[in-house]
Amino acid sequence: MALAYDDTNIFARILRGEIPCDTVAQNDHALAFRDINPQAPVHVLVIPKGKYVSFDDFAAHASDAEIAGFTRLCAEVCRAEGVGLEDGQGFRAITNAGPHGVQEVPHYHLHIMGGRMMGPMVS
Ligand code: C5P
Repeated sequence: MALAYDDTNIFARILRGEIPCDTVAQNDHALAFRDINPQAPVHVLVIPKGKYVSFDDFAAHASDAEIAGFTRLCAEVCRAEGVGLEDGQGFRAITNAGPHGVQEVPHYHLHIMGGRMMGPMVS
């Protein structure tokens, strides 16, 4: 069963156009926008347009088309931001899930960060 989804979360409001965001790219299934509090020169959040709380919720319950659309948009962002390995120095892609992951916004999102050397993974 899918996790209970809170329609009032801030990314749901962005998807409904109630709150602005700095859009980088989108397709039928996903939206990419700049993090409001960037931790690196490139810091983009990619979110599915469907209602999924976390990575495990998305991976278990999204359709193949949604998963493909989301994943392709991530690759498009890496290319467009110049951090993909085809023409850049690489990136970090992370997702926080639940209390131990310190997830702030309960709508699945992938952080794509690059443009500098990343530090240690765990803190
Ligand atoms: O911890 P979590 O992965 O849930 O982090 C949520 C991210 O969403 C933060 O990096 C925060 O800066 C970002 N955010 C945003 N725009 C908002 C609200 C939060 O980019 N309006």
